[in-house]
Amino acid sequence: MCGVVGVAGVKNAASLMHLMLFALQHRGQEGAKIVTLDKDKKQFVYGGLGLVDDIFNEKNIGALAGSYGAGHNRYSTTGDNDINNLHPLCARKGHGKNMERICVAHNGTLTSEITGLRMSETDTEQILGNFRDVNDSLPIHRRIFQALKNVEGAFALIFLFQDVKGKNHLIALRDPHGIRPLCIGRYKDGYLVASESCAFDIIEGAEFWRFVKPGEMVIFSDDKDKPFSFQPKAWRDFKRSFCSFEEVYLSYPSSRTETADGSIAFFSEVHESLGQELACENPDVTGDVVVAVPNSAIYHARGFSKKKKIPSEPGIIRSHYIPRTFIDPDNKNGNIVVKLLKKFRFIYAILFGKSLILVDDSIVRGNTMRRLIILMKNFVKKIVSITCMIASPPTKFPCFLGVDTPTKGELAINKFKDSEGVRNHIQVDTLRYLSLKGMLRAICRVTRFKENDFCAACFSGNYPVKIDREDFLEELSK
Ligand code: SF4
Ligand code: MG
Repeated sequence: MCGVVGVAGVKNAASLMHLMLFALQHRGQEGAKIVTLDKDKKQFVYGGLGLVDDIFNEKNIGALAGSYGAGHNRYSTTGDNDINNLHPLCARKGHGKNMERICVAHNGTLTSEITGLRMSETDTEQILGNFRDVNDSLPIHRRIFQALKNVEGAFALIFLFQDVKGKNHLIALRDPHGIRPLCIGRYKDGYLVASESCAFDIIEGAEFWRFVKPGEMVIFSDDKDKPFSFQPKAWRDFKRSFCSFEEVYLSYPSSRTETADGSIAFFSEVHESLGQELACENPDVTGDVVVAVPNSAIYHARGFSKKKKIPSEPGIIRSHYIPRTFIDPDNKNGNIVVKLLKKFRFIYAILFGKSLILVDDSIVRGNTMRRLIILMKNFVKKIVSITCMIASPPTKFPCFLGVDTPTKGELAINKFKDSEGVRNHIQVDTLRYLSLKGMLRAICRVTRFKENDFCAACFSGNYPVKIDREDFLEELSK
């Protein structure tokens, strides 16, 4: 999971991208980079490791001239946390007067075989490498399609292209399954592109326009007033497989979710719907108070509480200064107690002497939940009982499509054999998960899509694309 942004035809593109990357910080916290193109055939680049506001400032943003640009928040699924792996990746073709520039920012993971020499550790380099062999006399959208012809997997991409005439183009596209999100906003006379609509919300005067469709390329060019949409024939008959985990957890609650009928809906509504479904599936569960694991489960808990008519109270609050724990790859390397002590604060007056219903969006490794519960019990001293309600099914399989989940054997439900084993591990009295059917039903209630319009492979093992690469099979066997 990463955050990608782009600007087409708006002055000070870099400062807009700085804001958008800040709004998408939850999608990647390892590093960020911005590339811009100006009208004089020049390219400007700045990036670094760390959080967006630690990397960019007025001075370095001010030096990035131009009204076309692309940017990226990195969260690694392939490759280390290394400055060479930051996107957008940039290449040149030809030289002198005939030089073209191509840059690409990628959210997702490629599942096709990666071949040829590479300069970085990111699978995205394959895409740039493919431009070596495309027919340069074709229009840009055809050339991009050629470069992607043999590429499979999850890819929401933003291309930045400067042709031999010095014209700038921005191309936003989603893989034919539409596994990762991408949307377009309008601002002044130009356009903004971002992984999620919350990126437009922090720019005054910007507004959401529409989602990029699965298998669609939208091309913005500085010699054309209107964007041009292209859907390659070969990409038309794919099954939509939007990541259901985006609906459950990854996307920000204030962002819009795509709907089948074009109606307006937000991820917060999906979260509430998941919480309601969880309440319906568990009529026997009761308690004094519903407490969300903040911040990701606030709306799931709200839905659960409304349906059950049990009050939801902020019994746990979290520090603003700690990034998401799940997507921090360091999570694998211990140090979790210190992190959680820094992250969570327990509200004694709400938790003391109660039967708690703790609601969370998901359990992946189970380490965070276990520690959270131990720390809470130590702090509060007297809790009558803890019922842990999870608003998604057990995560049973690794994701190879853009989320850095652990190997199969490291996932809590496999490691501790079954839900009773996980309950024991996290030290609660009761543990319930939402069923797969229930999760999809809850998502579809809001999005109006059909249940099989979503990828749910990390819960079911049914991947929407071939997962037959040796490294994937190894992860599945461990
Ligand atoms: Fe999303 Fe899970 Fe599918 Fe990965 S496997 S794309 S996390 S639903
Ligand atoms: Mg959470």
